[in-house]
Amino acid sequence: MTDQQQTSKSIYDTREQWLKTAAGIVCQFYLADAGYAPRPDSYNISCGFARGRQRAPVAVTPREMSAGRRNEIFIAPTLNDSREVLVALTLGLVLAQRDCKPLPEGTRKMLGLPKIAKDGAVSGGSLKFHDMIDNLLTNALAGEPYPHQPLAPAKKCATRLLRMQCADSACGYNWRVTRKFADRTTMCPGCGHDKLMIGTRADDMEAFV
Ligand SMILES: [Zn+2]
Repeated sequence: MTDQQQTSKSIYDTREQWLKTAAGIVCQFYLADAGYAPRPDSYNISCGFARGRQRAPVAVTPREMSAGRRNEIFIAPTLNDSREVLVALTLGLVLAQRDCKPLPEGTRKMLGLPKIAKDGAVSGGSLKFHDMIDNLLTNALAGEPYPHQPLAPAKKCATRLLRMQCADSACGYNWRVTRKFADRTTMCPGCGHDKLMIGTRADDMEAFV
């Protein structure tokens, strides 16, 4: 990802236009020869997360899940680099052609497809594949980067737990609760004592009634 990519104005108004143009070229000039180009009317492409697949760079839903009997190809909104997006898109097209059935062994190698990690990092792939992508970026896409501002990957948002402890040192009962639960707790579940301590760690406990 570069600053230039994030600020330049694209001739493509939407990501979908850019993706659709790219998909047409990838199918026509790369996947068709190998028999892996999905029919143009058999898929839609969008930028978004597929349900339950938040961490995949690309996800494809089978035709039977769509009222229009189309495969939906979702490019993760965390991807921004044009080449990474095109690798994800190519994988999505191949999966759509198979209607999400597992790829026969050796297919990826036969097609020269790179690997793409959850964060979009691309590795491997044949020279032929990367030449095709270079050509696509320069010619069909006229050097226009993917018109997208990346969504930052979601941070793990664990509910913060508080530590509660019985203020009676003879009991010493301690447990962990959410803030909401802490507000409702008025006595020690161990001994029934009504003076409690609250904090985040054993060494920052404060009295709490
Ligand atoms: Zn107690």
